Amino acid sequence: MTSSERADQKWHLITFCASMRRLMTYGELAKLIGASPRSIGAYLDPIHHYCLQRRLPPLTSLVVKNDTGAPGVGFQLAADVPRAQARKFAFDWTTCELPEPSALEEARLQARTGSFRCPIPGCPKVFYVSRGGWDAHVASHRTHPDWHPEVLDPEERKRLFNETYARWFR
Ligand SMILES: [Zn+2]
Repeated sequence: MTSSERADQKWHLITFCASMRRLMTYGELAKLIGASPRSIGAYLDPIHHYCLQRRLPPLTSLVVKNDTGAPGVGFQLAADVPRAQARKFAFDWTTCELPEPSALEEARLQARTGSFRCPIPGCPKVFYVSRGGWDAHVASHRTHPDWHPEVLDPEERKRLFNETYARWFR
């Protein structure tokens, strides 16, 4: 299981806790997903960056350290932790679609390296530092022969990309 797949499991568990209006400790979460408490921080990382980039309440600060009761991940995002926790409790997480594991992985990659992966499934292309060059990359039919194989016009391919992956540009 990759860390993003585990993050997916945690997304369910933490949003469930949020709806029950309670916090969860590293130890509890580790037990529930069958991981070591020390590895929890690394698993929470993609969720932390995902919330940050999507401007969602900082979900990961609901997971607190067993001894101090303070969140290990996400506290730099929410200086006022009790208020941030209150905001997460109030937020209706059921209205928020479950993030794809690839979206969580993307959020982490972007935060760590400032890079962006091409969102077309199966494409290994990574844009470093900025999304510059995306248009030339998607205009060519050869780059993604299975993505809209019927569309050969470069301008139309760019338009389709812009439309389909509007979120990628945010
Ligand atoms: Zn691509």
